[in-house]
Amino acid sequence: MATEAYFIPQTYQLLIEVTEPVRVCVGRLGTFDFPAGRYAYTGSALRNFETRVNRHLSTAKRMHWHIDYLLAAPGVRVVEVQRYNEAECLINKRTEGEIPVTGFGASDCRAGCGSHLKWLR
Ligand SMILES: [Zn+2]
Repeated sequence: MATEAYFIPQTYQLLIEVTEPVRVCVGRLGTFDFPAGRYAYTGSALRNFETRVNRHLSTAKRMHWHIDYLLAAPGVRVVEVQRYNEAECLINKRTEGEIPVTGFGASDCRAGCGSHLKWLR
């Protein structure tokens, strides 16, 4: 049997392109200026994984997670989705980049990531 059969993704990473600087109200977190460039957002779903990924890619949805607000902003789009079978914080920490907004997507993080969104420049 193919190795792929044993690959059960739990973590996704959205590679996001912000074509020009954008100011976004990220719900109760506040309003922030995001410089243009590429970003990586790392999240996880232990159940209904692909449903979650597809939700991130859809444009019609209620604003719920921090990332929803950023993805709804003009000039912002997901250019790639990576899937991993390792814990989200491990993948997030392995991703080199700057933290644009402290606490972004990290409400449930207990690993001290600081943010699950990173600016790759
Ligand atoms: Zn974390």
